[in-house]
Amino acid sequence: MLFRIFRIATVATALAIQSFQPEALAWFDNTHLAIAEAAGFELWYSAAAPDVAKSKSAFNAIETPNHYFNNIDNREVDEAMVMGQVARYDVPGDREGHLYGAIIGAVREYRIVKASGKFALYPLVFCAHYVGDLSMPLHNMAHDDFNKAHHSFNDGVIDKIVRNNIALIKKNMSVIVVNNESDLAREIALVAESARKLGMAMRKENRDMTPDEAWMQVSRSASLLSAALAYAKREPFAN
Ligand SMILES: [Zn+2]
Repeated sequence: MLFRIFRIATVATALAIQSFQPEALAWFDNTHLAIAEAAGFELWYSAAAPDVAKSKSAFNAIETPNHYFNNIDNREVDEAMVMGQVARYDVPGDREGHLYGAIIGAVREYRIVKASGKFALYPLVFCAHYVGDLSMPLHNMAHDDFNKAHHSFNDGVIDKIVRNNIALIKKNMSVIVVNNESDLAREIALVAESARKLGMAMRKENRDMTPDEAWMQVSRSASLLSAALAYAKREPFAN
């Protein structure tokens, strides 16, 4: 009987955690906001919105694969892989995911909408979010048992204090110059590789990210986002 009660309690707790922290969020909201603010994005306060959108079941199949790449063969990420994912942006039901292409897809969408003269910033909100996801190791490796077991903790390594430490992110940012889509793809691949290699080390050592590692990763995202925004806003807007 005692065992049954314990079991029911365990299941109830698991369901409660699941409903508040759906799987594969990547960084929690505060971390996404901090990355976007450090990068100087004017809509930084919306940078967690794409996770809100994907939590709605009607959008889940379209939005969720934009947030990760399930790298089951542990392939090195390069410019060609990034560009090979662009056509899959917003294509529903792609279980492998296409985070790298989604960043470029969102930038393209911004430039197309901007060229039409309409309000165009919302695609950059998606871009800002995806560039945040990019530095999260567990979104760049196989979604296996290790990944599932460690996901939630690693999403929140610095989340409680990150909003009060934007200066720490800025301190570690580097200047990246993006002049064209090819440059952007190469820089996406570099951040993805830093995350993938960190993820491999975490799996090998069966451990979580340290706060120092998390600070470094979010600074990489902020550096890239700053460059991606500058490139996206460069005129003329014909893609
Ligand atoms: Zn996400």
